[in-house]
Amino acid sequence: MFGKGILTGLGITFRHIVDSFAADRRRGFGKNRYLPEGKEHTGPVPGWITVQYPEEKLQLPENFRFYPVLIKDDETGADWCTACGICARVCPPQCIWIVRAKKDDGKPEPRPEQFFIDTTICMQCGYCAEYCPFDAIKMDHRYEYSTLERTVSGIHDKERLTVFQSYYAQTHPRAAAAEKAVRDEKEAKKAKGGRASKEEKPAAAPAAH
Ligand code: SF4
Ligand code: SF4
Repeated sequence: MFGKGILTGLGITFRHIVDSFAADRRRGFGKNRYLPEGKEHTGPVPGWITVQYPEEKLQLPENFRFYPVLIKDDETGADWCTACGICARVCPPQCIWIVRAKKDDGKPEPRPEQFFIDTTICMQCGYCAEYCPFDAIKMDHRYEYSTLERTVSGIHDKERLTVFQSYYAQTHPRAAAAEKAVRDEKEAKKAKGGRASKEEKPAAAPAAH
């Protein structure tokens, strides 16, 4: 039939309109329209979702990503970053600069003295976070970075980039738990391997006379 596709499309649109209305009605017209902080949410919010931004904000899905942040340890305050440089190498627009720390004798230390990301170039691809072997760089949820100039404020330095691991665990509970499980497993294997190799170590040969 001529125009059948148009009618089907209109039917789908109409069904979504009715579904939105029904979803809002179930919650009591406007009540709980915006998901409360911390409630698990991975998809679009059903119902009428016109949001009076910036006064009202929707809870973001965990996988939402904006600029990267660097992770520091909650207990020690130490950077998890070892300044290995992998993130800088894989970054497609090359917007990461790392200055490795040095000891007094000039030898390199496995931590960054400085770390910069040019957010005017960063395309939020998430490669840096994906390739970091130490879970030390993660994609953040914060997205309000508008400024009146686009030079200095676009360069995020180490201080601005760094957040506590507990902050990341709060914004990305599932990913943080999964990554912790992998780290714990690795640690357990390492500890077991260490013990096994000590136990398996052959006794010293008796001295020859
Ligand atoms: S953030 Fe990760 S990949 Fe980048 S330098 Fe630090 S440890 Fe290496
Ligand atoms: S998110 Fe992508 S573009 Fe941005 S710093 Fe990481 S690797 Fe580079």
